[in-house]
Amino acid sequence: MNEPSHPPASKVHVGRLATVTVERPRCPACGSAALRKYRSIRDQGDGSSIWWVRCECGERFRVLLE
Ligand SMILES: [Zn+2]
Repeated sequence: MNEPSHPPASKVHVGRLATVTVERPRCPACGSAALRKYRSIRDQGDGSSIWWVRCECGERFRVLLE
C-alpha cells in the first residue's frame, strides 16, 4: 500500500549535516592505535559492540563501541 504523504528520499534536506568524529581506540598503557582485535561481540543486544584487543606493546584491554 502506497503512502503518498512520505516525501521521496531525494527531497530530504541534507545541506547541514553535523560531523561526528569517532576516534580510534588507543592503548591505555602506551597510547598506540596499532591494536589487534582478537575477539568481539558485534551487538550485545542494545546496539553496542565490544572488542577484546591486544596492543603491540602487549597490553590487553576491551573497547566498548556505544
Ligand atoms: Zn600499548
